[in-house]
Amino acid sequence: MSEAPKSLNFIEHIIEEDLNNGFSKDKLRFRFPPEPNGYLHIGHASSICLNFGLGLRYNAPVNLRFDDTNPVKEEQEFVDAIKRDVQWLGYHWDTERYASDYFQQLYDWAVLLIEKGKAYVDSQSSEEMAEQKGTPTEPGTPSPYRNRTVAENMELFEAMKNGNFKEGTHVLRAKIDMASSNMLMRDPIMYRILHKAHHRTNTDWCIYPMYDWTHGESDYIEQVSHSLCTLEFLPHRELYDWFLDQVYDRDKVRPKQREFARRNLSHTVVSKRKLLKLVEENVVEGWDDPRMPTISGLRRRGYTPESIRNFADTIGIAKRENLIDVSLMEFHAREHLNKIAPRVMGVLDPIKVVITNYPEGDEEWLEAENNPEDENAGSRQVPFSREIYIEKNDFREEANRKFFRLKLGGEVRLKNAYIIKAESCTKDAEGNITEIQCTYDPKSKSGSGSEESLRKVKGTLHWVSIQHALKAEVRVYDRLFLDESPDTHKDKDFMEFVNPDSLNVITGYLEPSLKSAKVEDRVQFQRLGYFCVDKDSTPEKLVFNRTVGLRDTWAKLQQNN
Ligand code: ATP
Ligand code: MG
Repeated sequence: MSEAPKSLNFIEHIIEEDLNNGFSKDKLRFRFPPEPNGYLHIGHASSICLNFGLGLRYNAPVNLRFDDTNPVKEEQEFVDAIKRDVQWLGYHWDTERYASDYFQQLYDWAVLLIEKGKAYVDSQSSEEMAEQKGTPTEPGTPSPYRNRTVAENMELFEAMKNGNFKEGTHVLRAKIDMASSNMLMRDPIMYRILHKAHHRTNTDWCIYPMYDWTHGESDYIEQVSHSLCTLEFLPHRELYDWFLDQVYDRDKVRPKQREFARRNLSHTVVSKRKLLKLVEENVVEGWDDPRMPTISGLRRRGYTPESIRNFADTIGIAKRENLIDVSLMEFHAREHLNKIAPRVMGVLDPIKVVITNYPEGDEEWLEAENNPEDENAGSRQVPFSREIYIEKNDFREEANRKFFRLKLGGEVRLKNAYIIKAESCTKDAEGNITEIQCTYDPKSKSGSGSEESLRKVKGTLHWVSIQHALKAEVRVYDRLFLDESPDTHKDKDFMEFVNPDSLNVITGYLEPSLKSAKVEDRVQFQRLGYFCVDKDSTPEKLVFNRTVGLRDTWAKLQQNN
């Protein structure tokens, strides 16, 4: 990756322009505003990195604000998970805020709007209101309740608040313009009645403010200078500004909404609602299933916070939506894990090798380097003995010259150990190879400095000593969806594209140094990929998740371009 200073993105250009026009740098303030109705996903990571990244760049505070105005879908579990994920990504918020903290203020402002004749209680059904909406080219029809008196509106709104009405009987609407070319300006709903307990305000309220009414005013209360959201809110900006106009005091910072493109990742869905469906229908084990594109899923899968931040930084922010290939994210996982993950040996599809000239009952412990990319990583000892496992596909009875692994009559080096030569093999009745007999060259021990130890053979294989090996469960994941963008098909539901083989559970045989591995430890199984200890692991039975394979398909793709 280039070391050149990063150029400014378009949001930073907007901020720079504001600063040049006299906006005071110490008044910059940002927020990340998740709705606690699910777990954060990789799309949110982009927004987190953008907002907290701006905070770091301008040394400005960033609030974590929960947009909790819909008690039907919001839960404390999600609040806790969101906080955990933002922290794990390595960011620190200035203050933790909740839109629900502002319910009283929002109510008072709504009363003010009623008094100014800018809001009214509508007592029609939602169907009736929908029919009056009009179309982008035809104006809407005013509600028969649009011209209620202030006194009548005040009385009704208070009665709504006091719980005197059933859900759906009344709403409070802003009185703007039923003929506006922006449909969102056609008297948008500010409040609806919901007799539901809220995860923070419990039953204090039975009217809840709508997103548009809440968001800008919350930004204003917190004195957020730049309120960044995704592009679907572009048409909402006019309304955001209208609501601000009603309460804005010239001495204060007036928040500015600006929009950037949503990030979509290939072979998955980034929408809490759709991810919830995968959880509820048991397609995955939970929000943190390692196949999920959630932050907690990626964490459990073995991703590092650095790799997610680097990925978000690389894709940057854009003005138009596009699909980011998941292999770019995998590339970043690999790139960071290569630097930090200790190398170990594990065999996932074993075949037995007997080294016939190695004394029976003998064993020796060989020095193995932990990470050639990190000179401080040190080394460990791996046991060697007469019977070992290698990968089944590392052996062929016969093969051409391009096959650098083990074949009859051929030699390979066993990583950190000796050169062996395949002499013969045994087969079962079906012709499957069950055992390979080899001889080893005792003078060829790695690192011994002897002439034989320096002898070059083409292939090097990983292996484990059978009697010392730890048996572990290894979960190998594939893409959760078979289609590149499963939720963009008009005629098919995204659920139809779920990959039925996204999880393959196998038994692996691992070197004994892994005995002390802890949950979330990340290692490289040499020649196979990066793996991470799963939370289902117990001292009796280790469980590993494969994070990514070693093969760098993304870099290859780039080279070919
Ligand atoms: P979802 O549809 O998954 O629920 P959302 O936009 O409703 O997404 P919020 O919790 O409201 O989720 O989002 C918090 C912030 O993260 C918002 O500013 C939102 O614009 C941003 N965000 C959400 N999804 C993405 C995405 N895919 N790419 C970039 N930013 C996103
Ligand atoms: Mg949302």
